[in-house]
Amino acid sequence: MPDGRPLRVCALYPDLMNIYADRGNILLLEQRCAWRGIGFEASGVGLGERLDPDAADLFYIGGGQDRDQRLCALDLVETKRDGLHAAAARGAAILAVCGGYQLLGHSYVLGDEELPGAGLVDLHTVREDGPRLIGNVAIEVELDPGEPRVLAGFENHGGRTRLGAAEQPLGRVLRGHGNNGRDGLEGVRRDNVIGTYLHGPLLPKNAWFADWLIATATGREELAPLDDELEDAAHAAARLAAGIGTR
Ligand code: GLN
Repeated sequence: MPDGRPLRVCALYPDLMNIYADRGNILLLEQRCAWRGIGFEASGVGLGERLDPDAADLFYIGGGQDRDQRLCALDLVETKRDGLHAAAARGAAILAVCGGYQLLGHSYVLGDEELPGAGLVDLHTVREDGPRLIGNVAIEVELDPGEPRVLAGFENHGGRTRLGAAEQPLGRVLRGHGNNGRDGLEGVRRDNVIGTYLHGPLLPKNAWFADWLIATATGREELAPLDDELEDAAHAAARLAAGIGTR
């Protein structure tokens, strides 16, 4: 019998915003819940569908090509913006990765074109002429005060993101480019709303972060420990690829 509150995950645009195997992040959440006897429900909202802010505890937006982002940006503003704001206001967790992260802000400017964003956090993204920011990346984050941890992953983005002066990053870049390759900041965090350029198997490489999301979204203080030998090895390999080894 599942124990307590289930984790209800809703993916936005699961067919369009899912490059680099973003779906694997959701599978990992499902498996870690199953191992602990925590119920798990997954749903999705696509183009033209409204977002019910009470229907999930974790809303997920994956990465996307500029072309697909264009479709989603306009739809997001028209049909999901209010729902997403209401979800954040009631404390639901929101995880947005790469292209999805860019859409959480005010705008994504590509040449003469300006794609609108959800305006959930204060940030702007501009597609500059310089090279894409690609490679392994490691950042230091402090999701719980006094407990610094490392997130290790991979980034590949043409857009450069700048946070508004009062907005907090998700973390500080240890290796890699981060938001824009200049200010040493990576991602954004406002309460339970998190955006990051670390994509692909973000959660398989950082199982501790998956657990933080599960606990936060379902209101659990603590989760039962799991045998994380393989997950720890995946994390260590991702750190090594980024050039920080274990510290
Ligand atoms: N299209 C966006 C960019 O290049 C995001 C890419 C992605 O999600 N990988 O900046």
